Amino acid sequence: MIISVDANAPGYWESVRKNATQRRAFEAIKKGLKTIRISQVYEQYVEDHLYLIQEVARKEGLHKDLDQYKQFRCECADTMGLPELTDCDESDIHQFSLEAVLEAAEALYGDEGGLGRSQEQCSCCGELATCHRWEKVEGGSITFYTSIYCEHCGRDEFDS
Ligand SMILES: [Zn+2]
Repeated sequence: MIISVDANAPGYWESVRKNATQRRAFEAIKKGLKTIRISQVYEQYVEDHLYLIQEVARKEGLHKDLDQYKQFRCECADTMGLPELTDCDESDIHQFSLEAVLEAAEALYGDEGGLGRSQEQCSCCGELATCHRWEKVEGGSITFYTSIYCEHCGRDEFDS
């Protein structure tokens, strides 16, 4: 079948431009998916994918046209196998992620979050070392930091 193209038809070049942009955007999504962090928390995993879509949409200017952006997000959700990205509000996705991460942290460290100071056996000398844990919200996700200081052997470690 021969498809004839009428380059003079109204909207022709606009649609060519749109298609090229979409192709570039999908390429960028595919690349981004290869390096995306695999979070243990599903909601955070979904949010990370949303960040990727938003970033690509911004770069390609897809966010300027809301309908086009929504369609792009839909297609990405399909590709990623994450229907939440289509069904949920973006603000909900961020909220769910934050709550789920906090919950996971509580499950991991107990109600108090295990944050603050505690005594732990030093893995170097076996004496009691001071362990300090804290959390920091960074870009919508929470990072946990631990520092251990042992006054007996001078072990001083920082971990995130
Ligand atoms: Zn020690």
